[in-house]
Amino acid sequence: RQRSNNPHLFLPHLVASMETVEETYIMIKPDGLQRGLVGEVISRFEKKGFLLKGLKLFQCPKELAEEHYKDLKSKNFFPKLIDYITSGPVVCMVWEGVGVVASARKLIGSTNPLQAEPGTIRGDLAVQTGRNVVHGSDSPENGQREIALWFKEGEVCQWTPTVGPWLRE
Ligand code: ADP
Repeated sequence: RQRSNNPHLFLPHLVASMETVEETYIMIKPDGLQRGLVGEVISRFEKKGFLLKGLKLFQCPKELAEEHYKDLKSKNFFPKLIDYITSGPVVCMVWEGVGVVASARKLIGSTNPLQAEPGTIRGDLAVQTGRNVVHGSDSPENGQREIALWFKEGEVCQWTPTVGPWLRE
């Protein structure tokens, strides 16, 4: 991505061309709110160094839940999943960062919390797939699709944190 003054020398720590600034859609599911885990989840993303660009508490209508999870429509747990997501308010967020899509998935942990590593949100805070506290987009493309689905024009803020140079070189 960047070279040192010597054109023949790539700085190894700067070479990672996958270091793309992306956005991802993160959602705290109704169990996260009921269990008082909103601050805990947000804190993990803040401390990692990602940038919060959108945030709202929202009661999800059934149609939106079905659209969001449309790829899972054929699964036997689909009706249960829609009931779960619409059972109370969710916290909708947009986070920006270098490689944030994959990194957020790592911070969140495996879908089944019993298989999620300790140190991850699901690994530390949940026990069942059907109550796994948080959602994170699985690709940059799905991130954009989901942000457009859950946020209206003007609800996502562009802003520059003053710590920027200490987070990204
Ligand atoms: P992830 O949320 O980790 O990307 P999936 O896209 O496979 O996982 O599934 C979406 C969500 O559907 C899961 O987070 C979970 O809430 C629910 N889910 C997935 N599999 C099951 C299952 N076998 N039983 C109940 N709920 C499930």
